[in-house]
Amino acid sequence: MKIYEIGINLTKIVGCIVTWDNHIRDFYSVDASSYKLRPQVITFPRNEDDVIKIIRFAKKHHIPVTPRGGGTGLVGSALGKGIILDMRNFNKIKIGKNHATVGSGVYKGHLDKILQKHGRFVGPDPSIGPFCTIGGMIGNNSSGIHSLKYGSVIDNLIEVTIVNSVGNVTRLPNMHHMIKSNISHDVIKSFPMVSKNSCGYRIDKILSEKDVHKLIAGSEGTLGIITSAKLRTYRIPKSKALCIIHYKTLRQAAIDSVKILSLKPAALEAIDNNITRHIKIKVPNSGCLIFAEFDNDIKHNIKQIQKIATGKIIKIESDKDNIRKLWSFRNSALAFSLKSITKKETMPTLIEDSVVPVKRLPLLLDMLDMIRKKYHLRTIVYGHIGNGNLHIRPVLEHKDISKIQKIATEFFTGVISIGGSITGEHGDGLARSEFVKTQYGDKTYSVFRNIKKQFDPQNILNPGKIISDKKTMIKNLKI
Ligand SMILES: Cc1cc2nc3c(=O)[nH]c(=O)nc-3n(C[C@H](O)[C@H](O)[C@H](O)COP(=O)(O)OP(=O)(O)OC[C@H]3O[C@@H](n4cnc5c(N)ncnc54)[C@H](O)[C@@H]3O)c2cc1C
Repeated sequence: MKIYEIGINLTKIVGCIVTWDNHIRDFYSVDASSYKLRPQVITFPRNEDDVIKIIRFAKKHHIPVTPRGGGTGLVGSALGKGIILDMRNFNKIKIGKNHATVGSGVYKGHLDKILQKHGRFVGPDPSIGPFCTIGGMIGNNSSGIHSLKYGSVIDNLIEVTIVNSVGNVTRLPNMHHMIKSNISHDVIKSFPMVSKNSCGYRIDKILSEKDVHKLIAGSEGTLGIITSAKLRTYRIPKSKALCIIHYKTLRQAAIDSVKILSLKPAALEAIDNNITRHIKIKVPNSGCLIFAEFDNDIKHNIKQIQKIATGKIIKIESDKDNIRKLWSFRNSALAFSLKSITKKETMPTLIEDSVVPVKRLPLLLDMLDMIRKKYHLRTIVYGHIGNGNLHIRPVLEHKDISKIQKIATEFFTGVISIGGSITGEHGDGLARSEFVKTQYGDKTYSVFRNIKKQFDPQNILNPGKIISDKKTMIKNLKI
């Protein structure tokens, strides 16, 4: 079917905006990732009825459907070549005692403001801050700085409502929706023992039928279109303290992190010297910083960290506004790292967000050193060191971009061999779906395939993400 025919036919059956204007198609061809993929038609469903009609139409004509939130994903998971569902109109919020029921198109920043009035917050807090949506956060199983204490989305998801691939509305968990696959002990054992993981379908978290909704966390729009979700909320801590420590090397910071974790910080983050040299905190010569935040037993923990840390403590801050300002240096790490590259260079968001057990971070850093030397590569590193989850950005000259496939394959193989996951929070998308089988092995991958078939037998929901027989890492790169 031609693009304008899809558009005109959809316009006839739904009441929402449907567009195939070339400029708007260009806009939806990109997200925050390094990819570009042009969709045919963009829709803005107003309610579940619109979503149902769009899904049934797509199913009938075998057109791929990709849901999209804020488009801040870094691995191309919200890009698709068929119909895009921009979920911004799903914007209702209902605040409960210890939870919030939220439309999937609600921007995190909007929810934060409303929850703040109730003295509450949601745990996972991606550094992109206000600009991501609840649907996108669930789609990627996002996390953030405070996930060390409060978990990723999967740990905070109580219920989720989806429109499935045949156009029915289902609220999960429900007794009728069990996974009809054999999740054997071997399959569970193929999951790495890490604190966060956004690779594949998280069947390791499904211990009974009460957990089936968790499958949607990290499913990247491949199992259903989320219309709303019930998320756990927490009371805003009365007081906090942030301690900033300088280390000569990231390796030293990683070794110390294991000790600092014994104090149960709410957050433990790191930035390397590519970032520290651009921020307004005085850092001795070069080296990296770690940020440790405590929100309980503060006096004791600050005393203890002064005893434990082998790095130099350069700041201890307890004023909430100042703490927020200091965190902005860490939250803007991606923007600061861009200041560290030249016009000739690029920093593809492909390797991204591997996670290993914290004790094995020195091994990860050694492996990175080897790769750096082998490929004469510079890297920028920052992230959630307390989770063993580092953002690693290779810096390459544009002309060398084709090397990235080799570098990534070597890096991911190394991560898996030291017991890690290739993605702790950003998901598989176009960048990593081809590596999901390598991560888990054939048996677990065939369970994933089965799950996808049960939820989406015609493969219309964001096809090519998570389950992929094709190599997608290089294909649609825009750089
Ligand atoms: C500067 C920067 C910093 C970041 N920091 C972090 C961080 O600290 N932690 C972190 O986890 N991530 C981080 N990210 C990545 C990204 O922002 C998060 O993953 C975010 O939660 C994505 O939300 P979104 O609304 O933009 O989703 P999108 O990018 O629009 O979509 C993400 C995925 O969810 C699916 N999806 C969207 N809506 C729905 C729906 N209604 N139903 C079903 N599926 C849906 C999409 O199809 C796609 O697969 C960062 C990104 C940037 C640019």
